[in-house]
Amino acid sequence: MPTRRLYHHDATQRQFEATIVALTTHEGKPAVVLDETAFYPEAGGQLGDRGTLGGIEVVDTQETESGDIVHVLAASGPEPGARITGALDWDRRRQHMAQHTGQHLLSGALLDRAGAATVSARLGESGLTIDVARDRIPEAELAAAEGLANDLVDDDLAVRAWFPDPGELAGLKLRRDPKVTADIRVVAIGEFDYSPCGGTHCARTSQLGAIRIIGAERYKGMTRVTFTAARRGRASLFGHDHVLRALGTQFSCAPADVPAAIDKLRRDSDALRTELTALRGQLANAVIASLPGTGPVIAVIPGDAELLRSVGAKLVGAGRDALLCSPDESGTTVVLFRAAGSTLDCGRLWKQLAAQLGGRGGGKADRAEGRLAAPVADWPQLVGTVST
Ligand SMILES: [Zn+2]
Repeated sequence: MPTRRLYHHDATQRQFEATIVALTTHEGKPAVVLDETAFYPEAGGQLGDRGTLGGIEVVDTQETESGDIVHVLAASGPEPGARITGALDWDRRRQHMAQHTGQHLLSGALLDRAGAATVSARLGESGLTIDVARDRIPEAELAAAEGLANDLVDDDLAVRAWFPDPGELAGLKLRRDPKVTADIRVVAIGEFDYSPCGGTHCARTSQLGAIRIIGAERYKGMTRVTFTAARRGRASLFGHDHVLRALGTQFSCAPADVPAAIDKLRRDSDALRTELTALRGQLANAVIASLPGTGPVIAVIPGDAELLRSVGAKLVGAGRDALLCSPDESGTTVVLFRAAGSTLDCGRLWKQLAAQLGGRGGGKADRAEGRLAAPVADWPQLVGTVST
């Protein structure tokens, strides 16, 4: 005989007494079947309950094809016939109930405001998603659906679950077709939404606190809407508020002014980058003016790779090969540029330098650069040694 489901009649029952009718296993773990239970087995997108049975931890609850509810235990327990006390992990179940009611409410709102019918939903440990049969939903319609769902939370509608007789069932406007043909259970949110559902739900919509859509992406020709609600939603939104306040403190502004502060920071950064480029160009000109003579330039130029590139580009523009380096405590930055008409092979020279001192980099015949693993003491001498 299938397990009697206490949660069908009272989803708020957290403790109960029952008799063990069978011992079994589930994925290698000991498990028990009771004559009746308040534990909800994973189904309809809602996760299975956890808690304790006779003081032993229930790590999961699943359902068999024949309608038995299997309580998966962390350790073996009493024998068949024993009376035991069951207690739900109520915080977890309460969150699952709120998530499930939130899903029904948002599914109803998405249908009402975006013409998007729910195909499937997942109420997992890490995320809540609804897949709806519409390819693209404009932001404004998602916002309208979210707004309606939150209005209905504020309206504190009663949520009712019952088994209507066939006559009553025929008169109900169900949002989707039932997946079973007999013993159809209906969950109603006020008079807004009627859905066939075997899950556990809040007693009133105000228990959801708020519903927030946090993402919508195209998925296999549908739209996957990610949302959050109740305690989990509150934790997530409070967490974001915490981050925004911390940013406000860093920028010495109100949280709402953080976007403007970041915008100003970005503009300041762009202006500084432009100024830096101009100054680097001036420095490169001053460096070139200090270099002697004509022909290839083999020079040590204190500075970063950007300055070396800038000097190199200007020298090449003046028809001169540029073999430049900048040593520091931990190594040497090298930039090699070939002028038009020159026979210098920059890539080959780099390989010879790297073979001698070790380093990372590379390039082609006309241009190469890299970082040698050691500081170079005498650059012209080293270039002369390796290139002969
Ligand atoms: Zn449901």
